[in-house]
Amino acid sequence: MKIKKKLILAFGLLFSIIGGIIILNQVVANKAHSNYQKIRNEIEPAIQCLDKFVLVNQGLRSLTKEKLNKKEGLGSTLNNKIKSILEVEIPNLLIQLEEVSSTLEAQNNSIVGINQIFTEANSLTDETKQVLGLLENKKDYQNIQKLKKANRIYEFSVVRRTNQINRALYHAKKKYEEDSLRFNAELNESFHQISLLIFVFGLIGILVGLVIVTQTINSIIKPLNQLKESSHIIGLGNYNHQVLIQGKDEFAELGKSFNTMTDSLKESFEIIKQQKNEQENANYIKSSINTLYEVLEGDLTKQQIAKRSLEFLLDFYLAPIGAFYIVNEDKELSCQVAIEFNEIRKELPVLPIERGRLGTAVRNKKTAIIHEIPTEYKNIKTSFGEVSPECIIVYPIVFSGECIALVELVCLKEPSSYNMTLLTDIKESIGITLNTAEGVKNLKETYEKLEVSSQKLATKNKELEQFVYITSHDLQEPLRTITSYSQALEEDYSSELNEEAMTYIKFLQKASSRLRNQIHALLELSKIGRSEVKELIDFKEIFNSLQTELSFLIKEKKGVLLFPDNITGEVYGTSEEIQVLFQNLIINGYKYNESETPTVELSYKKTKTHIVFCVSDNGQGIEERFFSKIFEIFQRLENGEGSGIGLSHCKKIVDAHNGTIWVESEYGKGSKFFFELEL
Ligand code: ADP
Repeated sequence: MKIKKKLILAFGLLFSIIGGIIILNQVVANKAHSNYQKIRNEIEPAIQCLDKFVLVNQGLRSLTKEKLNKKEGLGSTLNNKIKSILEVEIPNLLIQLEEVSSTLEAQNNSIVGINQIFTEANSLTDETKQVLGLLENKKDYQNIQKLKKANRIYEFSVVRRTNQINRALYHAKKKYEEDSLRFNAELNESFHQISLLIFVFGLIGILVGLVIVTQTINSIIKPLNQLKESSHIIGLGNYNHQVLIQGKDEFAELGKSFNTMTDSLKESFEIIKQQKNEQENANYIKSSINTLYEVLEGDLTKQQIAKRSLEFLLDFYLAPIGAFYIVNEDKELSCQVAIEFNEIRKELPVLPIERGRLGTAVRNKKTAIIHEIPTEYKNIKTSFGEVSPECIIVYPIVFSGECIALVELVCLKEPSSYNMTLLTDIKESIGITLNTAEGVKNLKETYEKLEVSSQKLATKNKELEQFVYITSHDLQEPLRTITSYSQALEEDYSSELNEEAMTYIKFLQKASSRLRNQIHALLELSKIGRSEVKELIDFKEIFNSLQTELSFLIKEKKGVLLFPDNITGEVYGTSEEIQVLFQNLIINGYKYNESETPTVELSYKKTKTHIVFCVSDNGQGIEERFFSKIFEIFQRLENGEGSGIGLSHCKKIVDAHNGTIWVESEYGKGSKFFFELEL
């Protein structure tokens, strides 16, 4: 039952009991009240009236007697008193009696013998009047007859009647006194009943109230305590605990929700625990991998890599026995290291890969866990006694799709699937390291060979440069001869030679002039990089000097040359060469430029280690496919006056300064030549 209903029922019962007590109390009180009213309004007036009647009756008798005994008999006061009783008091009393009697009659309690009282009272009145009539004056008292008669009426009638009336009055009064006593007793009884009722029902009410309150409090406190205890138990980490609250009230529902909450808590904690375990495992594996990386660091030989890797794996998988094989050139498994209980075996086998469990793993390139333990491994004697391994891990190391090595681990316990992930994670690393060891070995050999060839090349280069220099130098002499003789021919024999001969002479002159330029350029080219002296380059000075030297060309081309405002950056090199580098790029910027105002702009930016210059122009631009070709010697994109040496000259200068040069351009939209020098 719901708590609300329980409370409503409990208070309902309590109020009903209280209501019952009030109603009962009212009933008894009403009864007492009516008894009291009866006594007060009916019986008491009747008794009073009867008492008064008795007094009046007795008074009348004694007054009548006095009247008889008075000799003179003329006392008017006595007469008046008697008359007043007879005419006023007795009739009044009779009226009162009648009223009281009629009231009581309505209650079926009329005055007993009232009719007799009336009859007797009337007779008494008549007879007393007769006595008064007989003894009116003095004479009447002297009349013995009258006196006797009066005395006889008094003796036989008045006295008898007053006695009868008094008796009747006495009986009536007695009855009413009994009634009064009875009603009083009833009244007392009522009060007694009321107090008893109040006591009994009050007691019952209190007891029932106590029972209800205890029950209700219990039905609240008990589940609350259960919940409190359960919270405490769950707080201590026992998530299997369930709270048992009977019934169908809110607490039972709360208990159910509490259990649901505990279940979900348990689930959450399980998940968290699992995640924590996974995290710990992941961390353990991560730190193990780091350890492996550390042990594999440095310039190691294949044997060293094999030994260190094997030691690491034996340690990780708590394996007492293991071996590391490398697939050799003859496609055999050549054991590099075999360890048994920390002892390195001296005899190392070479196994075929065509058969056997190891050969299968090499061919399949898949890690295998073997549970059929060969007899030689079944019972291993250790210092702790004999142990029997649970499994053998055969772990091929694959690099670039080729199995290059294999590890065999004899484990006492089968590793968890999580621990097996380590092998997947490190497979590549060991493969790379092994391959790098091989690579390094090859690299060393190649490097040594390269060193020899580069030295040879340097000698050859020097010879070549020498040759170029000498040839260019030596060529200048015959060239000068050709030039001067062709000039002489033109000047001295122009009149004798025909037009065709003159054209040939002109060709000859042009060709020799171009040849001279090329020889000059070649000479310059061969000089680059010879200077060993490196000085701090003053770019500002170079720009000033370029401005002066190129002013004629700029004027001729009606062009614009822009330099950066301020330039900072310490570059060491050969100033003359750097100037030639700028110059060649600027001249090309005007040479290959058909715009109305050919503009060449020099700019730069600095990185942490380099300064990058940009020589941009608004010329014809270069197609992307020629970007690298133009830096080769004698490479020109069109026929013209150029020698095809300028940019290769630039490249050689930049190379000599350990820099790089490149071009960015869009055909028809100008070019940007960049070169980068070390700071
Ligand atoms: P050249 O003596 O012919 O100028 P370079 O080595 O200086 O020889 O240049 C090689 C070729 O690169 C040039 O023939 C030219 O076609 C192209 N070139 C060089 N600089 C520019 C430039 N700023 N704009 C367009 N083309 C250029």
